[in-house]
Amino acid sequence: MQDNKNQQEDNRGPHINPSVLRFYLFGLVIILLLNFVIIPKIAESRIITSTYSEFRNMIAEDRVKEVSFDENQILFVALNKDGVERIYKTGVMDDPDIIKLMEEKSINYAATIPEPPNTFLSFLLTWGIPILLFIFLRYSMSKRVSSMQGGLFGKQNIKKYEPSHESKTFDDVAGQEEAEASLREIVDYLKNPDKYSKVGAKCPKGALLVGPPGTGKTLLAKAVAGESHVPFFSIAGSEFVEMFVGRGAARVRELFDEAKKHAPCIIFIDEIDTIGRSRSSGMSTNDEREQTLNQLLTEMDGFDGNLGIIVLAATNRPEVLDPALLRPGRFDRQIRVELPSLQDRVAILKVHAKNYVIADNIDYELVARSTAGASGAHLANILNEAALRTVRHGRTVVTQEDIQESIEVVIAGEQKKQDILTPEEKQIVSYHEIGHALVASLQKHSMPVQKITIIPRTSGALGYTMQVPEEEKNLLSREDMLTYITTLCGGRAAEEVFFNTMTNGASNDIEKATSVAKSMVTQYGMTERFGMVKLQDSGSRYMGDEGSMSVSQQTMKEVEDIVVEIVSHCHNKATTLLRQHQDATHELAGYLLKHETITGEEFMEILTPYLENTDKVTVEG
Ligand code: ADP
Ligand code: MG
Ligand code: ZN
Repeated sequence: MQDNKNQQEDNRGPHINPSVLRFYLFGLVIILLLNFVIIPKIAESRIITSTYSEFRNMIAEDRVKEVSFDENQILFVALNKDGVERIYKTGVMDDPDIIKLMEEKSINYAATIPEPPNTFLSFLLTWGIPILLFIFLRYSMSKRVSSMQGGLFGKQNIKKYEPSHESKTFDDVAGQEEAEASLREIVDYLKNPDKYSKVGAKCPKGALLVGPPGTGKTLLAKAVAGESHVPFFSIAGSEFVEMFVGRGAARVRELFDEAKKHAPCIIFIDEIDTIGRSRSSGMSTNDEREQTLNQLLTEMDGFDGNLGIIVLAATNRPEVLDPALLRPGRFDRQIRVELPSLQDRVAILKVHAKNYVIADNIDYELVARSTAGASGAHLANILNEAALRTVRHGRTVVTQEDIQESIEVVIAGEQKKQDILTPEEKQIVSYHEIGHALVASLQKHSMPVQKITIIPRTSGALGYTMQVPEEEKNLLSREDMLTYITTLCGGRAAEEVFFNTMTNGASNDIEKATSVAKSMVTQYGMTERFGMVKLQDSGSRYMGDEGSMSVSQQTMKEVEDIVVEIVSHCHNKATTLLRQHQDATHELAGYLLKHETITGEEFMEILTPYLENTDKVTVEG
């Protein structure tokens, strides 16, 4: 590694960089031009033209110091009216007297142009300072260029990792077993190429890491860098197109040239979708990017597979990538880096917990269950928030409570300090939240209630009910979805049943309920009317785009009708459940109002006596 670096510098050291030579040549031309054209021009314009009679008068008045006769003009140095020496010129006349007159006044006369005074100073001004200026300019420019990471003169734009004691390893990555195994093979190839070539196996030229943001793609690439002990060139896709327009393709070339010099090595292009976007995708007429992509394709074909260069790339938008990029021989291996499962989340939490002073009795499993759908980056963030909270509270060890609270901070924002709700509003919010919780716990397929609170959050939530699944679900049934929608309707239903009113506090519930109901119709084929027909284009898989519907007006109308039907069916169900359990609701809402935050256990303790002889229900329809 170290050797490689020296080698790189040696290459550039001894012979003169042509661009430096060009710079000095340019400077020399400027200085010559200055001295032989511009300054004489200026000097000439400073010669004052006078008449012959004036010349004679000035001699008579003793003002002339020196005279020089030319073939067709007379130049003379004389004092002007203010007593300052100036150069004058006048025409030649047939005047033999003039010599006598000058001898009388003992004026020097000659047939040469008088020298301007003070030659050393003028030399300094016309030669010395310009040359110094150019040297200084060159020096400061070269400094700026190197701090700009190349671009103008150098090839320093490519970041090169040197393994050090702080570099990442596979131990820093948790819960991405398959991706890790795939990458380990690549590392192994770079370490023992013979093992593979004996069998005739070729190493994949490129591997593409795809997955949602924050799942550890960049981290995995860094771990490869840390483990492989070969040079590792890293560049972000955007860096190809940044800075200098038209440099993208050149940069790709430079990157691969550099890599070839250092083979075996790894090239890592992060966020490759910025340059690898499909060329056919209509609206993009970005020539710059297209050229960069073409260059990348050429380079990836251009090197021999046995050379030991491996190109890693990462993206969270694989669907926009150009198909040419994905064909075998380029990125022939796609490594999926998906959102972590329950066990994965536990593992990730444990890896990150090592960085903090943390209590021994943390229930990582519970934390993992409360964070369904969170990425590794989210989990890292949650632990850090917890540690910040610990410090804020003046403690030295992170506790379970800190972590639970920071989950809520990440989900719903900080607690609001001031009481922004009036007593009546608080009452409505209590019933609304108890509505959700009660409807949830009265149904078979719902997740247990973990916590209910009516402390407003900075996200705008006035309160919320937190449900945590007992186990991770990979399959969601139609009943699960209907149960979820019914639970969402529970809040509004409570407002209606107990206050005979409706508030805008349910807007978030409405949004979620509608979106689930719509997916049931357009994506999951859960209706009799449309059956197994896809009505919605799949959007960006990892970026949460919904995808648009390209269906007829009539179908659209039908879809909407069915969505309305599903949601209102669930709403009615929720209303019925609350009507049947009015006493329980009153007691629970009163308790919540008093305590502001209650746990799932407290909730169940109050509710259980009311449920002696009722069965849990399933939403049908
Ligand atoms: P992306 O997939 O968007 O490139 P990163 O690799 O940048 O995500 O992950 C951001 C941070 O999240 C990492 O620095 C790490 O702290 C944390 N992280 C993400 N996934 C994992 C994981 N599987 N194991 C451990 N930490 C992770
Ligand atoms: Mg990344
Ligand atoms: Zn609600």
